[in-house]
Amino acid sequence: MAHCLVPEAEAILDKEFPVLDKGFVRLVDYMGGDERVVQSARVSYGEGTKSYREDAGLIDYLLRNSHTSPFEQVVLTFHVKLPIFIARQWVRHRTARLNEISGRYSVMKDDFYVPAPGDVSLQSTDNKQGRSDETLDADTVEKIRVAFVEGQKAAYAAYSSFVDEGIARELARINLPLSLYTEWYWQIDLHNLFHFLRLRMDAHAQKEIRLYAEALFEITKKVAPRCCESFRRHILGGVRFTSEELDEIKRRLDGEDKTDGLSGKALERFEEKLMKGRQL
Ligand SMILES: Cc1cc2nc3c(=O)[nH]c(=O)nc-3n(C[C@H](O)[C@H](O)[C@H](O)COP(=O)(O)OP(=O)(O)OC[C@H]3O[C@@H](n4cnc5c(N)ncnc54)[C@H](O)[C@@H]3O)c2cc1C
Repeated sequence: MAHCLVPEAEAILDKEFPVLDKGFVRLVDYMGGDERVVQSARVSYGEGTKSYREDAGLIDYLLRNSHTSPFEQVVLTFHVKLPIFIARQWVRHRTARLNEISGRYSVMKDDFYVPAPGDVSLQSTDNKQGRSDETLDADTVEKIRVAFVEGQKAAYAAYSSFVDEGIARELARINLPLSLYTEWYWQIDLHNLFHFLRLRMDAHAQKEIRLYAEALFEITKKVAPRCCESFRRHILGGVRFTSEELDEIKRRLDGEDKTDGLSGKALERFEEKLMKGRQL
């Protein structure tokens, strides 16, 4: 079967999708699309392409039944510019191939992430890994943003002077902060990309990596729209219930008193899942 050409993907090749204040994601290349998933799934039966509806139905069937290998036949390569603190979270996903700019070889650019005023928040009291919804007054926010910038300028000035003095670049860089931007090429197949997106588009993921995941998803929709739609329906928009939660649902459907079932944190987690369903 010939190379799959997807016109919508061709149209965005090399186009930068901006993320945060100075970052971006762009699609460098892709192999396959919806059509490749369908072809590879049908190879077992020796069947050819069918109608649009049948193909979409097959993709949906594969995705909801975790028949994942046909999705591995689609591969995407992205160029990403991102702050180092996000890169550290990103590299935990081991099922991709990446090549990053070398701070040993190149002089790092004077590019640092400064959170927008609306993103400067207090520590959440109920979520140890999150931010509070409480708003800070404008003066405090500005003071913090100025302090971020001053720290970044001081660190970059020291770095530049070390480089100018001929200190090895691999050492000159070691005091640069996590807010410094780095760049890499990142290649991943669609099955593993969906796993990444499920974890990193989730409300529990840090906002900054969530924005990157959303940009990746927008781009991926151009390459494999039907796969993305099934992923949105079954994975992103779905939830997994525990057996106790299923009992709770049955109790409620039977019209039993809510107070007889889940309580405390377990009830909160259950209600959160129900809310997710309502939001989508
Ligand atoms: C909201 C959130 C908070 C987090 N907080 C922390 C934290 O505080 N500290 C921290 O260290 N990490 C944290 N992580 C990272 C997290 O623990 C995972 O390392 C990360 O999400 C990658 O997941 P993964 O291993 O499933 O992905 P991948 O590495 O992409 O792997 C995909 C799948 O492949 C399989 N796989 C890959 N490699 C192996 C292997 N070597 N052996 C067996 N199976 C393998 C597994 O089935 C895995 O699920 C957090 C992640 C999220 C989303």
